[in-house]
Amino acid sequence: MKKKAAQNIIAIVYDFDGTLSPGNMQEETIFKAYGIDKRKFWAKSRALVVRRGYEKTLAYLKLLIDDPIFKRRPLTQRMLKESAKHVPYYPGVDAGFFDQLNDFVRSFPEVQEAGITLEHYIVSSGLQEILEAVSIRKYFKQVYACAYDFQGGRPVFPKLVINDTHKTQFLFRINKGKLKLSESINEHMPEEERRVPFRNMIYIGDGITDVPSMTVTHKAGGNAIAVYDPSRRVPRQVKAMVAEHRAEHFAPADFRPNSLLVKILHQTLKKIIASIVYCSSAERSSDWVRRHM
Ligand SMILES: [Mg+2]
Repeated sequence: MKKKAAQNIIAIVYDFDGTLSPGNMQEETIFKAYGIDKRKFWAKSRALVVRRGYEKTLAYLKLLIDDPIFKRRPLTQRMLKESAKHVPYYPGVDAGFFDQLNDFVRSFPEVQEAGITLEHYIVSSGLQEILEAVSIRKYFKQVYACAYDFQGGRPVFPKLVINDTHKTQFLFRINKGKLKLSESINEHMPEEERRVPFRNMIYIGDGITDVPSMTVTHKAGGNAIAVYDPSRRVPRQVKAMVAEHRAEHFAPADFRPNSLLVKILHQTLKKIIASIVYCSSAERSSDWVRRHM
C-alpha cells in the first residue's frame, strides 16, 4: 500500500498577465523592442483564429515566428531574457510581498509543529523564456508558460502551449506532485496520496481566461481569488466570477501590506493552516485509537 502524503504543503498558483503584472508581457518586452503596434499585432492574431481556425494561443506564437518583422529579425533567447527586466508589476509584487507572506505563514507555532510549507507557482499563457528571467522568479517553485523549441538561438516551433483550459492540467500536476512535464498525470491517485490537496490551494487570476482554473479549484474544495487593475473599477467579469461561484473573493491587484488582497490571503492561509492542523491531529487520534483497540 502506498504511503499517505503528509498533505502539509500549501500552494498559491498565480496567473501572470493582469494578475501579478498590468497588461501583457509581450507588449512590454517584444513589442517595445521591435516597435510593434499592439492593436495591429492582436488583430493579425485574431484573423488567424477567425479566418484560419487557429487556436488563440497558437496564433500569437505563430506570429512571433512567422510575421515578416520576425522573419527579418528573429526573436532570440537572449533578447527575451534581457527584456524580462521591462516587465512591470502591480504594487507590492516586487517589494516584499512574497517574503512577507512566507513570514506570515512561518509566524504560527503550529506551522513548525505540523511542518507546513508554502509554495508559489505561476501558470501563464505568456512566454516561459521571459518568465524564467523576471526578477521575482526565485520565489516560485515552478513556472509553467508557453515555450518554444529554440534551435541556433531561434524559435522554430512551440513545444508547450498553455491556453485557458490547459491551465487546469498544471493545477493537477501541482495537486498530484507530478511537476515534470514528462510525468503522466492521467493515472488515478487516491486523494490521501496527493501532495497538495485542492483544499490547500489558492488560485489567483484576473479574468475570463482564468475561469476554467478557478472553477476547477473552487469545485475541488480549493480557494479562488479574482483580482483586477487597482486603477479601474471592478470589471463586470470579475463580479460575475464571484456571483457564479467560480471565485470566492475579489480584490484590486494590490500586493502591498494591509491591502484588501493581502488581508484575504491572510484569512485564507489561516483557514488552510487550521484545517491542516485539524486533519493531522484527527489522524494522530485515530492512530492512537487503533493502537489501543
Ligand atoms: Mg491574466
